[in-house]
Formats: sequence, structure tokens, C-alpha cells
Amino acid sequence: MTNLRGYRASRVVTCDPKIANGSNELGVIENGVVVIDDARVAFVGRESDAPPVRNWTDCGERVITPGLIDAHTHACWAGSRHDEYVARMAGGDYRAIAAAGGGILSTHRAVMAASEDELVHQLTGRLSRMLRLGVTTCEVKSGYGLVADAELKQLRAIARASKMPNLPHIVPTFLALHAVPPGVDRDQYVASVVNETLPAVAREQLAQFVDAYIDANAFTAEQGRAIATAARAHGLGIRMHVGQFADIGGAELCADFSAASADHLEHIGDAGIERLAAAKTHAVLLPTASFLLRQAPPPIDKLRAAGIALVVASDANPGTAPTESLPLAMALAVRLYGLTPAEAILGATRNAANALRLGDRGVLASGNWADLCVWELPHEFAILQPWGVSRTERVVCSGIEDRARSRPSADMTTKASSPASRERESVTKSREGEGSRPPRKNPR
Ligand SMILES: [Zn+2]
Repeated sequence: MTNLRGYRASRVVTCDPKIANGSNELGVIENGVVVIDDARVAFVGRESDAPPVRNWTDCGERVITPGLIDAHTHACWAGSRHDEYVARMAGGDYRAIAAAGGGILSTHRAVMAASEDELVHQLTGRLSRMLRLGVTTCEVKSGYGLVADAELKQLRAIARASKMPNLPHIVPTFLALHAVPPGVDRDQYVASVVNETLPAVAREQLAQFVDAYIDANAFTAEQGRAIATAARAHGLGIRMHVGQFADIGGAELCADFSAASADHLEHIGDAGIERLAAAKTHAVLLPTASFLLRQAPPPIDKLRAAGIALVVASDANPGTAPTESLPLAMALAVRLYGLTPAEAILGATRNAANALRLGDRGVLASGNWADLCVWELPHEFAILQPWGVSRTERVVCSGIEDRARSRPSADMTTKASSPASRERESVTKSREGEGSRPPRKNPR
């Protein structure tokens, strides 16, 4: 007997470019099914074409999407910056707060003081909450340790979390240049990161990407170039914080290195846009940060017209994006940045996967990871509307449902099914045998 499990729903949003077309941008299959074989998707389409399935979960008038992918977070941190938030809301300036030892340096002190175990504890708490919001893959940066030992401590904490069950897949990024630690010369610091920290990170295989904060109040494009050159020499991918406060050539630097993504882009000129488009570098948009900082949006119309793939991410961090919610970032991308609902959904699924160089998720298609969300909503565009609430009914990550959110299936059948689906032979029993199966390790 097959071990295949299936989910039925009135709208299966595949995000699959092979299914999508001009009038169906998201590749929606109405009254579709997703069939899972252990940790992978085995089939997506119509039930009449599906292979024999042992257990069906009938989601009724619900939406199934790929699991969300948060392509830019700083989720590994300790401490609290509520005082700074209060000061900022009373008119304090980001750069003045940073100059007074707040901002990144405040979290740096807290991360320095925290044990690796404490960082794991904080990070896994955040990741489990993100999973319930629908996030099944999460990029996590270091960047608060700043000095080599503390950066490695952060990255080891991220590596430990990535092996734990019942959390999103993790993509680790070494944020090589975020701020200069107190009392250290800037150029010497960049040299030490290039010559010591980055090689140590590569040696321990603690990161897939290297990031740097290229901006007027941070590091120059030339300093970023030194980091990107070293990252490339160690075979690591490149993504960068670019143009949050000023255009100082970060986009051109990203293009020079065919970076996977250029992130922020509130300030980017036409030449930079042209170069990013030619390099096929993704634009990662972070509307929660610009919302908090009361900034004008990036030039979305120009990015779109240039054909640059748009990604939406939470930027989850303790200062400028105090949220763990990718759905909130998606809602703000529509409200503040003028993305269409379809763009926001693709920006947190297919485009986010591509920006992280992951070809096995972000699209519901056979062979991909069995990462999906069942939304307690009648239409995928409704995902963009309710702010600050979690509307996932089930989150499935590598084939395993997040149990805290899963409801008894009988409940689903009575409350959620359409009359038609109730008539179907519903084998919507609890997922047989799953309870006795040990939790699968996170595959990344
Ligand atoms: Zn960031």
C-alpha cells in the first residue's frame, strides 16, 4: 500500500511558471491536490490524475501555497532595544542613535554577553513562531558578533538550529561587514574579516552566503569589494545590503560579482538598476524597515520595468524591523511599495527561493520539498490583507505538519469542506502512523 498523503483544497497556488500564464500569474489550480511522499512533493494537479493516496486531508474552501521563504533576516540575536525604539518614535535619528552606541552596537554587546546556548534558544524560539506564520525556509545572518569569535558563535548557533526538528529550513549567511566593533580601526577591521574571520567561517562551512552593509553610514563599495572577492575565492555566494540610506555604488558592486541579491534599494540610481538587471541579481525589498524609518519606497516601477525579480523579506531584527512576520512584510509591500498581491506572493515564494539559489522549493511541483501552507482564507490575495495575525491553518515543512497549528481533521471536514467535497469519499482521518514517526531532522 502506498504511503502517499494528499491535501485537497479549492485553490492550490503552485507559483509554478510552467502552469502560470497571463491570466493566472500564480499558476492556481482550482479544486486541486498536492500529494506528498514523505518529505517531497509527489504530485500536484487534479485529483483524477493523482496516484493512489493512503490518506487525504480535505482542506475544503481553503488556499494552499508553497511554504513561505524569508530571504533576509537577522533572527539570531539577544537582548532588547525597546528603549531605543521609544527614543526613535520620539524623533531620535537612526544615525544619531548609532553614534551614541545604540543600534547594531547595542545588540553587539548583548550577543557578546550571550552564550551560544542562549543564542540557540532565542533563535529557535523565533524560528518556531515564524514557522507558524507560514515560513518554511529562513535565511539567517550573523553580523552582531562583529569580532571573529562572536561571529563564529552566532554562526554555530545558527548551524545548531538548522539541525533541529520542527523548524524552518535555514540558509546561513555570514554578515561580514555590519558595523565596526568599538575601538577598532575601520580598515584594519575589514582586513581582519577578509584574512581571518571569513576563512574561518568557510573552513567550518558555517555559511552559504556572505553579506556586507554598503551604505553611507556603514562600509564603502571598495570595502565591500574586498569582502566579495574573498567570498568568491572561498566559493561562497554573495548578497549585500545596498542603498538603504544613500546610493554609494553598492548596486554596481553587486552586479560586478553577479550577487544573488541586492537588498533594501531605497536609494538606487538608473545606472545601478540597469546593472542589476543585466546581472540577474534579485532585489530583496524590506518594507518593514523603511516603514519604521519613515522612508520613501525604492523605485519599484523602475525595478519592475527593468525586469528585476522582486523578493519580499521581513528583515527581522531587533532595531529597524521589529517583527518576525513575513506576511506582514508582504502586506506592507502591497500597501507601501505598490506591489501587486501576486508580486508579493511570488516575492515570498518562487523569487525568494531563486534569490537564495534554491531550486527545490518556492514552487509546488513534484520533486520539491514538501513545504506548504494551508491558509484559513478563501483566496490567496486575502493573505495580503489581515495585518498582524496568523492565518495559516496548517504549515507543512519537509512533509511534517507543525503540530501546534494542526487541527483535528474531523474539525476540518465539518467546518471547512464544501458540500461537494464532503460528498467525496473522504479518508480524512488523522495522519496514520505519523505520530509514531520520529521527527525528521531539518534537511539543511
Ligand atoms: Zn538587514
